[in-house]
Formats: sequence, C-alpha cells, structure tokens
Amino acid sequence: MRLIIEENDAKAGLWTARYIVARIKEKAARTDRPFVLGLPTGSTPVETYKELVRLYEAGEVSFRNVVTFNMDEYVGIPEDHPESYHTFMRRHFFDHVDVPAANIHILDGNAPDLQKECERKIVAAGGIDLFLGGIGEDGHIAFNEPYSSLVSRTRVMTLTPETVAVNSRFFDNDVNKVPKQAMSVGVATIMDSHEVIIQAFGHKKARALKHGVEGCYSHEWTISALQVHPAGIIVADEAAVGELKVSTYRYFRELEKSERL
Ligand code: PGA
Repeated sequence: MRLIIEENDAKAGLWTARYIVARIKEKAARTDRPFVLGLPTGSTPVETYKELVRLYEAGEVSFRNVVTFNMDEYVGIPEDHPESYHTFMRRHFFDHVDVPAANIHILDGNAPDLQKECERKIVAAGGIDLFLGGIGEDGHIAFNEPYSSLVSRTRVMTLTPETVAVNSRFFDNDVNKVPKQAMSVGVATIMDSHEVIIQAFGHKKARALKHGVEGCYSHEWTISALQVHPAGIIVADEAAVGELKVSTYRYFRELEKSERL
C-alpha cells in the first residue's frame, strides 16, 4: 500500500488527477483499448474532478477513449433528482469533458434487477484499470457499510443510521429525506480493479484511515480490504492522518520521498 500525504484536499486532488491522467496516457500509448475508470461521488472527489476538467480544457487529456463505472447510486430517487449521483456526475464531470455518453455507466437505483449487469459489463470492458473512491467516517468504501462481506459484489445495501445522518447535509439536514438504501459495487468488485486509489480528507476521516492502514483486515472497517490489494493507494490530507502513529506517518513520508527522487 502507498500512502500519499498532501497538505490539503486541493493538493491531494491535484496529485490524484495528475496520476489518473498519466495512467490514461500510458495505456493509450500501449494499446487502443479504452481506459476503464471507476468513479465516486461525494465531497471528497470534487477537487479531483475540478483538476481533471482543467487538464481536459488545457488539452492535456482526452476522455474519448475512457469508459467509466460509477460505484453507487441511491435507491428510489429519480435520476434527475438534484442529489442523485447521476446529477452529481453530470454537474462535476461529464458535462465538462468528452467522455462519450455510451461509455458512461451509472447504476440504476430504480431497477435493482440490473445489479448483475454491472459486474457483467465491467468484465466485458476488460476489468477496471483504476478505481477512485472515498471513505466514510465508518470506514465504508463505496456504500459497503461496516460488516459488509469483503467478497461482496454489486447489490442493494441498507445504509447505516450514521451514513444517513452524515449524508443528510445534502438533503436539507433532514434524515427523513435521505434514501435508506443504495446500490453499490461490492468490496470484491473494487478489489478486482488493477489499481485502487482511496482519498480521505479532514479529521472526520482520521479514525477510519487509522483502521484502514494500521488496523486488522476486517469487515468492521471495509477500507481495510485495501491491505490485500496489490496496488492500493491512499491519498490523504494532513488532517486525515492525524490518528496514525508517528512511526507510521514517518515511514510513509520517507517512502514517498524516495519514490519521488
Ligand atoms: P464524502 O463521502 O466524500 O462526502 O465525505 C465519502 C463516502 O461516504 O464514501
């Protein structure tokens, strides 16, 4: 596992966007097969999307040969709801870059019988090259809440009361308006990706990050599954690493210094 520590979320977003662009270009140089990108929603990836859009506008990258799979969507709200993940993705990314509409895959929260389709399409696309995600305060990745199976696949999940409360900020701070279920790729779907980047920003994520990096491999903190991924990267800001042991912090800092030499 690599742990990249940046000063703040803007710098971490920059690092991540540049990494993604480098990977897209690298694959394009080797093959004409599309680059398959797993994408998240939420507050965490906003800076990354901003920078990806900026790099696209600057002519540094094209997404014409990129296929995307979003990791989750609420169940039971219309696709054009202002807080649906369909809307989020259009607002922050798809409306501003050249990903062909046919290459975009977002789970249909109104058709739970489509869940198997998601896995089939990912396999048909040749697997996900790079999966970008965030973590919840309870350590969830995508909507794989605590005690989700670590070999789970795309399915309907019931959100924990904590996640509903945290997400109520997008729904007029009213927990009753927050959908209680979501469709989500499983932990194994994420782990099958060739590379996984998980971003964690702010002190609210510090406990989850500590469990993910220093804790045991356990379904209690689904982020810990990253420990058994051959190419897992956590990109964090200083606040999110605040609960790590000093020795852990120093180790990863030193490691990255030598990586960048
Ligand atoms: P956030 O959510 O980016 O809005 O903090 C992340 C998550 O719950 O996975």
